[in-house]
Amino acid sequence: MREKKPQTGTAVIAGRAEPDTPDIAGGRLIPADRLKTAIWVFDIDHSRVLVANAAACDLWQAKTEEELCQRDFSKDMSASVSNRLKQYQRDFADRDAEFSEMWTLYPGGKPTSVLVILRGCPLADGRIAMQCEVVGVADDEPDNLRSAEALLHTDVMVVLYAQIGQPLYMNPAARNAATHAEQTISEKFVSPDDFDLMLSHVEQSGEHRLVAHVNTGTGPRWHDITIKKCSDAATGKPAILMTAIDVSELKIARDKARYLADRDQLTGCYNRTYLQHHMALLAQYQTGRCALLCFDVDRFKQINDKLGHEMGDIVLKEIASRAIRAIRRNDIIVRHGGDEFVIVFENVPSAANFTAKIDALLAEIAKPIIHDATRVNVSVSMGVSIFTPGTVEFTAVMREADIALYASKQDGRNRATFFTAEMGVQANTRDLVETELKHAVENREFVLHFQPRLNLLTGRVVSVEGLVRWQHPQRGLIMPGEFITICEETGMIEDLGHLVLELGCTQAIEWQQSGLEIELSLNISPRQFDDARLLKTLERFSQHPDFPYGRIELEITENVLIGDHDLIKKKLAAIFRMGYRIAIDDFGTGYSNLSYISRFPLNCLKIDQSFIAQLPKSGPIISLVLTLGKQIGARVVAEGVETRAQLDWLCAQRCDEVQGYYLSRPIPVDHLRATISELNAKMSFLGTRKRPQH
Ligand code: C2E
Ligand code: MG
Ligand code: MG
Repeated sequence: MREKKPQTGTAVIAGRAEPDTPDIAGGRLIPADRLKTAIWVFDIDHSRVLVANAAACDLWQAKTEEELCQRDFSKDMSASVSNRLKQYQRDFADRDAEFSEMWTLYPGGKPTSVLVILRGCPLADGRIAMQCEVVGVADDEPDNLRSAEALLHTDVMVVLYAQIGQPLYMNPAARNAATHAEQTISEKFVSPDDFDLMLSHVEQSGEHRLVAHVNTGTGPRWHDITIKKCSDAATGKPAILMTAIDVSELKIARDKARYLADRDQLTGCYNRTYLQHHMALLAQYQTGRCALLCFDVDRFKQINDKLGHEMGDIVLKEIASRAIRAIRRNDIIVRHGGDEFVIVFENVPSAANFTAKIDALLAEIAKPIIHDATRVNVSVSMGVSIFTPGTVEFTAVMREADIALYASKQDGRNRATFFTAEMGVQANTRDLVETELKHAVENREFVLHFQPRLNLLTGRVVSVEGLVRWQHPQRGLIMPGEFITICEETGMIEDLGHLVLELGCTQAIEWQQSGLEIELSLNISPRQFDDARLLKTLERFSQHPDFPYGRIELEITENVLIGDHDLIKKKLAAIFRMGYRIAIDDFGTGYSNLSYISRFPLNCLKIDQSFIAQLPKSGPIISLVLTLGKQIGARVVAEGVETRAQLDWLCAQRCDEVQGYYLSRPIPVDHLRATISELNAKMSFLGTRKRPQH
């Protein structure tokens, strides 16, 4: 199809006066039958010939014009040809356009190829018909005929542009997609950047291929475009040949798949895989200072436990969207897992500016989250590592931010900490301990020391607390303060706790077998309480024939009792049934809501040593705990008793039991019997002492 400037004086055939045939507007009669060239008028709307001269009848192998006019061409017309003719009809109406096409006709089954000029032909009823004029018999080389035909029918869009960008030729598929028949190459591209990029590539290498967003008659679409420099076959002048296929559906599907692959489904943030990809990209193109910020939600487990996972999800989504609103276009936010997020900032401004920005983000996130009737106060802890892409490994940057985040947690949460070299050294030491601990747990390098607990009414040792110590092959005995937290954070506490239970229960069974009537209390960490193995191990020991029923006490902390009440109740009931007792350790330092006290059956409250150390100032609080203990039928033990004065005060207040350095430090099992005997003798005066009456 070649468009020409509209010509004036176009020949029009005389209209026929049949009643159902539309008249050709202003039909001027010309002696068409004398023309050697075939010419006819085609009604595009009804797929019928309206008028035809003798040469046209010959061409179509019709005996008469009437016979030709009665033929229904719609039967043999494909949808694409029909669409193309409709497009021509619109172009005729808009611009008085003229086209030429190579046609292969099959009037009697034998192909005849002709070059036809197509022009608009207004009808009296206002519609536009198409005047077809054969201007020559086409080259009958089969390959040429086939390629011309293929060009007409293919879905591939082919356009030849003059070097200035005007179209010289568009095949029907290209014309169909174009916004208008003269759409230039630059008008095709939605983004001028794509156009410029394409031009520069074509200039450099003569060709280019890209998937670009393009303007089409049906709105913006995605085309896979190939562009080549060439010459116009008709004029020999430089030209540009563009072939394109519509890949919109594929591109949208691919983008969607990419979105799903790169994003976290809950929050819409990027995911870990994308973070790695992004950091690798940064290393290639970014030379300015960047920052990687890690943050996690403070006490997120409690939000989940207390308000349910659905609310937990709402909190995560809200925090993510607050963070997304606060970052710039090039910065990215990633959900790194659970309640942990990462933000990568590019081109970090001056330190002061950046700190202010982070403080603002902290404040924004800390605003209450209100959902239905629930109001949740959240905060996050942040760790920041400043880095120059390309000079440091991604894992190293992540580690620095993580170390800084850990420091934020240690310092009281709800804050941001910037990584320093000193923090790095401390973390390395910690890592070393962690590695050593792993081996230590595997090699069972732990022992229990026992600290006696004295009954103030009888003056006798009734119980001992088993406290774990690490027997380090080089460093000697290491106290739990150095390793329990690491074990809790890394999950090793589950294995260590299991080992302590084995050591403790075995010891208690041994005492029972040897006739030593003493109770034993063992510390259970919150994480260990959640470990499914706990009940199994307890059950195993409880079935031993010499199990000291009712004489092993498990010390748990207050926060263990927050969460799914039914589950905790069931667990505690199972523990009681097996013959163990429950004590609350470090009582008064944890959860301020005491409702759990009446909800669960408890045997013992161990007042935290910090209250004893603050006597007599803390006297009223201790008195309160003593009353509470009496009311729920639990023994009250004062921990950390270091002086005679503290002991006397507790005695006077009718505290049940005491434990502390004043009586004995935790000691190895070998010295225990002797120490107990000594203590019983030393403290026997308590049993005979007259106690104040309340
Ligand atoms: P805890 O369970 O509250 O144990 C009491 C701690 O206070 C012990 O420290 C004990 O040595 C110390 N203590 C006792 N009397 C006094 C005193 O008069 N003054 C002072 N200043 N301290 C006293 P230890 O053995 O270093 O244990 C520290 C903590 O480590 C324990 O606190 C407990 O929370 C944890 N822990 C110890 N053994 C285990 C264990 O086997 N499993 C778990 N999960 N935690 C354990
Ligand atoms: Mg304890
Ligand atoms: Mg304690």
